[in-house]
Amino acid sequence: MKYVIIGGDAAGMSAAMEILRNVEEAEITALERGEIYSYGQCGLPYVIDGRISSPENLIARSALEFRKRGIDARIRHEVQEIDFEAQVVKGQYQDEPFTVPYDKLLIATGASPTMPDWDGTHLENIHTVKTIPQMHELLESLQNVRHVTVLGAGYIALEVVEAMRERNLAVRLIHRGKQLMSLLDEQLAEHVLAEAQKQGIEVLLNEQVTGFTGIKQVEAVVTEQGSYPTDLVIVATGIKPNTAFADQLKQWDNGAIIVDEHMQTSLPNVYAAGDCVAHFHYVKGEYDYVALGTTANKQGRVAGLNMAGKATSFKGVAGTAILKFFDIGIGMTGVTSKDADKLGLAYDVYTHKANHIAGYYPDAQPIYLRMVVQKDTQKLLGLQAVGTGVDKRIDVFATALAAEMTLPDLLDIDLSYSPPFNGVWDPLLQIAKRYS
Ligand SMILES: Cc1cc2nc3c(=O)[nH]c(=O)nc-3n(C[C@H](O)[C@H](O)[C@H](O)COP(=O)(O)OP(=O)(O)OC[C@H]3O[C@@H](n4cnc5c(N)ncnc54)[C@H](O)[C@@H]3O)c2cc1C
Repeated sequence: MKYVIIGGDAAGMSAAMEILRNVEEAEITALERGEIYSYGQCGLPYVIDGRISSPENLIARSALEFRKRGIDARIRHEVQEIDFEAQVVKGQYQDEPFTVPYDKLLIATGASPTMPDWDGTHLENIHTVKTIPQMHELLESLQNVRHVTVLGAGYIALEVVEAMRERNLAVRLIHRGKQLMSLLDEQLAEHVLAEAQKQGIEVLLNEQVTGFTGIKQVEAVVTEQGSYPTDLVIVATGIKPNTAFADQLKQWDNGAIIVDEHMQTSLPNVYAAGDCVAHFHYVKGEYDYVALGTTANKQGRVAGLNMAGKATSFKGVAGTAILKFFDIGIGMTGVTSKDADKLGLAYDVYTHKANHIAGYYPDAQPIYLRMVVQKDTQKLLGLQAVGTGVDKRIDVFATALAAEMTLPDLLDIDLSYSPPFNGVWDPLLQIAKRYS
């Protein structure tokens, strides 16, 4: 059986390894347009400030290692077209065309950062953060830089802001929206803004960028309101699924491929997984686009098992995400009240400020919570948390969401307690006690 996998990172190689484990004499060909396989993009921001000493430390397995295991892992092979009828993949390798036939195909091409159609994007020192080669270029550019401007306000933008500040650079963030972390409800986003300001970040909201000026290198970012001098720009305004060659497959609004729970696309023998697909959000009950490494790895595993003939399902996502931003954590799972409004749900929202551990124990820090609960049934719908101790509460709540629990059910969970770890009533239980 000939297996072809397009994309040599999280989703693609998780699938390849499952096929390898489960199908004797599988012929697996992986086609990767870059030179690097299986690396942890999530660690890239921490390379900027030296917490991780080299981008290469992020590589989990090289193409050579995959080849040693029997996978024909090719580099610099860019797929440009798929003949779904003849079951053949076509592309370019170093200016030479290539074709590879398949019995089963996985598209795992991920997503790429978008570069809006602004003036002056050709100038030097304008970067995006996605790949290891891009990180080398960025580290090189940062040598003689004192001021950085980050465009965008999502998790990659915020992680880069922190890393640049940790490098002792002056940092400005510009965002066209009215709040940082636009996925959060604005009441919690305020705490994110307060943290940015506490750390000396210049934050400009409601400013639409129009372009860049400079002679050779970027010298200023121009918005509809003004011109702001800078030495280097990071563009983190969004991502787009790499699916241009797959327009015969059923796609979601942004071009992400629609797959069923077996990661199968709308055409036979064609699977897709990771950042290039739309994700079924089981709290919203509809497709969404939540491009994350956790999901890419899980979906790759499920795709590989199904391609190997072992029927396995991917339940979907709850939109669970977390990031560190200087001294606080920012996390969310399920739906926000903004989402609930869009979905037309009847809900109650409970906001709460608590200590992350026992209030009398040294270094107790605040955690701000915002919980969305279905009206009448009190079914849990979502939690957002900003502050200290966010990871524990978000993960407990994500588990409760997966179990379709109600607010009173939370009170029955036997959570751990000792003053250095928690209050005797965990902040989640405090909400459940007060409102159920
Ligand atoms: C800076 C940063 C921080 C992040 N932090 C987190 C985090 O903290 N937590 C989290 O869960 N997620 C995080 N992510 C997201 C996570 O890295 C992605 O969700 C994950 O890498 C997606 O895996 P994938 O295999 O679907 O796609 P990708 O990792 O994008 O891999 C796709 C591969 O396909 C190749 N390819 C594309 N088109 C073609 C083609 N036509 N022909 C051949 N090859 C092709 C690409 O070169 C690429 O190697 C972060 C991402 C970034 C950039």
